Amino acid sequence: MNILVINCGSSSLKYQLLDMETKRPIAKGLVERIGMPGSVLIHRKAAGEKEIITAEIPNHMVAIQLVLDALVNSEYGVIKDLKEIGAVGHRVVHGGEKFAQSVLISDDVMKAIKECIELAPLHNPPNIAGIEACQNLMPGVPQVAVFDTAFHQTMPPYAYLYGLPYEMYEKYKIRKYGFHGTSHKYVSQRAAALLNRPLEDLKLISCHLGNGSSISAIQGGKSLENSMGFTPLEGLMMGTRSGDLDPAIVSYIMQKEDLTSKKVNEFLNTKCGVLGLSGVSSDFRDIEGAAAEGNYRAQLALDVFAYDVKKYIGSYAAVLNGVDAIIFTAGLGENSPEMRANICKGLNYLGVEIDPEKNDTRGKEADIATDNSRCRVLVIPTNEELMIAMDTYKIVNEG
Ligand code: AMP
Repeated sequence: MNILVINCGSSSLKYQLLDMETKRPIAKGLVERIGMPGSVLIHRKAAGEKEIITAEIPNHMVAIQLVLDALVNSEYGVIKDLKEIGAVGHRVVHGGEKFAQSVLISDDVMKAIKECIELAPLHNPPNIAGIEACQNLMPGVPQVAVFDTAFHQTMPPYAYLYGLPYEMYEKYKIRKYGFHGTSHKYVSQRAAALLNRPLEDLKLISCHLGNGSSISAIQGGKSLENSMGFTPLEGLMMGTRSGDLDPAIVSYIMQKEDLTSKKVNEFLNTKCGVLGLSGVSSDFRDIEGAAAEGNYRAQLALDVFAYDVKKYIGSYAAVLNGVDAIIFTAGLGENSPEMRANICKGLNYLGVEIDPEKNDTRGKEADIATDNSRCRVLVIPTNEELMIAMDTYKIVNEG
């Protein structure tokens, strides 16, 4: 069976068509600048050249139509007929408290996803647009929603409640939800396979370090903690997001800079993090490059980031009462030996000892700890698309 995986952002759409026999993508691509001038579809066959298709793409429906056209195109397509797509798996960012698992999309499910718009106003609307477009363009093909928040629904109340009046939780559902769940779930399963130990026996700290970053404490395959909270703004400092702050800073900045609540939210999401601290870029490659040339603020941003990650690892080791393995994943975690070494420096008390030679690796699964290291340190490239496809396949075939 082929499964189409769709990940819709506000102005972009990523897709993969996976063959579930081999569990590999047979085509993948990206639509950029939806609803803007210069929109484009970049499509690639598994072992093929990239095909750049420019067109006016005013909305997600047109974007998905273009993707489907590309998949069946006689020249650069990979299937003859859309009937060869058995199901579609959609990434949905926020499932609130309703969804602890992936789910076959029905009218009731759509209603519940729409109710979560309030909790994720930037993310859920494009996810919904993608689902509705596929329902229209591929009637009868099962659609499955896979939520970023679902994996973290195992967090206990004492972990997910804030120090606010309980009524804030009852009235507005203000609590920690956690995000990047699909990635944390995938790498935790791979970690068990790599360590050749049952997932049920493992205490893991999973560090998803990319443009958006979060850390999870995972025990026996279940999430106990995630550094992101009510929204993906909490936790680590990120590419452009501030991460944890004294909450009093928010109203102080609003007052000093004369910002509305909408503007301050935008500021904290888009102008802060390593971009704001370094003044160089939100991209860690640029920041590492600038730091290597002696840029003080770039080095400072890297140091603050590594320190942040280390603090979370320490607190999650306390949550777990020990740790069997620390996992590094996502763009930075998979590709920056310098950042991994910086984070792991001074974690000897947890039994962490990195082997510099083994750490000199990028984008491949590896155990980078020394043979004597009590705690294993793993690099595991994340694969959210495969996880979404596997959940979709399971739901469609096993119910
Ligand atoms: P992601 O959000 O997972 O796509 O990760 C994107 C982030 O990973 C960006 O900040 C990139 O700069 C960073 N990244 C990707 N490759 C490298 C690399 N070779 N060295 C350092 N950072 C990298």
